[in-house]
Amino acid sequence: MIRRIDHVGIAVRDLEKQTAFYRDVLGLEFEGFEDLPDRGLRIGVFNVGGVHIELLQPTVQDNAVAKFIEKSGEGIHHLAFTVDDTAAELERLTAAGVQAIDAKPRSGAGGAQVAFLNPKSTFRVLMELCEHPEGTMPR
Ligand code: ZN
Repeated sequence: MIRRIDHVGIAVRDLEKQTAFYRDVLGLEFEGFEDLPDRGLRIGVFNVGGVHIELLQPTVQDNAVAKFIEKSGEGIHHLAFTVDDTAAELERLTAAGVQAIDAKPRSGAGGAQVAFLNPKSTFRVLMELCEHPEGTMPR
């Protein structure tokens, strides 16, 4: 079951610069940076009343976020939903005809189990399913 909005992912070129804006100008609670070398990303995480904002800076030139910035510029990249069970939700949605980018859940930021849906079948919004197994960061 989809429970709530987990986080909004925002593609950025300069993580330090944008972190200063979100933390110091907007005044959001900064939770820290995290490196995801297998995805070629360095992220900055902010908490806004239990919903998170993840700034995504590519650390390689050829991943999905780098291509997104090249094509569309910086900005909102994806919307993530908190789910109880990513595998079960993926199965339910693909049975309903939704195409998935990830055939099965994989590890994401903060130890979450995540899977992305293909925006071609979600009216052009890149959506992520995000499950937080016990003991992982509750994002
Ligand atoms: Zn995400």
